[in-house]
Amino acid sequence: MTRLVIMGPQGAGKGTQGSRLAAALGIPAISTGDIFRGHVARGSQLGIDAAAYTDRGELVPDSVTNAMVRERLQEEDAAVGFLLDGYPRTASQALELELMLARSGHLLDAVILLEVPLADLEDRLVLRAETEGRADDTREAIHRRLEVYAEETAPLSEFYSELDILVRVSGLGEIPEITERILAALSARSIPAPA
Ligand code: AMP
Repeated sequence: MTRLVIMGPQGAGKGTQGSRLAAALGIPAISTGDIFRGHVARGSQLGIDAAAYTDRGELVPDSVTNAMVRERLQEEDAAVGFLLDGYPRTASQALELELMLARSGHLLDAVILLEVPLADLEDRLVLRAETEGRADDTREAIHRRLEVYAEETAPLSEFYSELDILVRVSGLGEIPEITERILAALSARSIPAPA
């Protein structure tokens, strides 16, 4: 059972690496951004409420996000472990996740911090905006998301570093090479645990 979080600024490649790692480790990749986009696409009430935040690059309120993650982690596939992508993003979400896990007697095995210099991030995000057409890939929303990351999310790396579960990995290079780099960094910490 492997319980992981992948964090890093928008454009660092969390989504891409998150799904590749999850596939390699046989655990579900759980992306809160994808769950919100699913709700928006279906036009659910949660989607309508969330879009007011996601479109502007603001965070959806913690109470909504925490409840959504709590439910998702109770689904059967998450019993073998999980890789969370895009959650937690605030101190209150990080505490909530600790509580959710503690209730079932579990801990996070590692928090992967995917590091990419700011100049590369902006280039990647502009490129993604051209190819994927995400509603929140406007110049203003991109700028705001990077600001929110620096203010609210980046400080969480200190919390996880104090818990000694932070694994910093460079997000520069070819996609398969980065995946291998992350798997090697995890394996150096005996993650996943040998059977
Ligand atoms: P992402 O795909 O991870 O870039 O997420 C897209 C958008 O969904 C973010 O800009 C937020 O508006 C929202 N979102 C995703 N995850 C969270 C979270 N953990 N807390 C609050 N909002 C989130």
